[in-house]
Amino acid sequence: MSRFAYVNGRYLPARDASVNVEDRGYQFADGVYEVCEVRDGKLVDAPRHLARLQRSLNELRIAMPMPLVSIEFIMRETVRRNRVNYGLVYLQITRGVARRDHAFPTEPVKPAIVVTAKNLSYEKNQATAQKGIAVVTTPENRWPRVDIKSVSLLPNVLAKQQAKEQGAYEAWFVDRDGYVTEGSSSNAWIVTHDGRVVTRPADNHILSGITRAVLMNVLEALQLRLEERPFTIEESYGAAEAFVTSASQIVMPVIKLDDRMIGDGKPGSVSRRLREEFHRFAHIS
Ligand code: PLP
Repeated sequence: MSRFAYVNGRYLPARDASVNVEDRGYQFADGVYEVCEVRDGKLVDAPRHLARLQRSLNELRIAMPMPLVSIEFIMRETVRRNRVNYGLVYLQITRGVARRDHAFPTEPVKPAIVVTAKNLSYEKNQATAQKGIAVVTTPENRWPRVDIKSVSLLPNVLAKQQAKEQGAYEAWFVDRDGYVTEGSSSNAWIVTHDGRVVTRPADNHILSGITRAVLMNVLEALQLRLEERPFTIEESYGAAEAFVTSASQIVMPVIKLDDRMIGDGKPGSVSRRLREEFHRFAHIS
């Protein structure tokens, strides 16, 4: 089946879709993105993803290329044209195309927008969750504004590659004081032996995940205890459970952290329950 991409006003077959070599996203990673889960052809938590998009653009002083409702329409249309039932829709907005110069273009340029969508295997994702994943740790080496969902992801790329080469699925960044910040493409969580569910506060050192925010609603509804506080890698090694959250993984149990087994080496009951309950609380439209 042919795939389509939306590029600056047109839906094009993926093979014909291209961007300008002087797009500032390509040259400087001067842009932002969003990734939304697609279920039954619908968008999961679109309003929150669009609100975060708006915030990222504001932080970088990139103009909104069109009203949010139009962006949402394009996301839905890209999902429809690619016949995505279960998968992801990806949206990227860069500062635009201008002759290469680090400072912002002096004449205002139109931001460039690209939307793509792809199918994923639901069964494969479920099978991974049933088994649980291995995570390795890596020193935090990113800038202190990772709260902005910028396309500048080189440290994340290198961390994920390190994980892959070590036979793991994800890497957790650990800061100089031994605290876990987040995963290379996910937020990090642990569960204590007395059932408290712990995640780092959403400061400038983590991306404030949409899945993380929805999961907090789930915890409240299920009357589970949330503790929003920094936690160390040492505490994580001894935790009852650990998991990661992201739009593509939802709640993914962690069964191994570096060379330590978490709990009994199987996905924990809290993580499994949160994964099962998640979509009851998500906004699906
Ligand atoms: N942290 C990082 C670095 C990410 O890249 C992501 C998602 O890709 C997340 C956290 C989780 O965010 P969300 O739940 O909005 O997908």
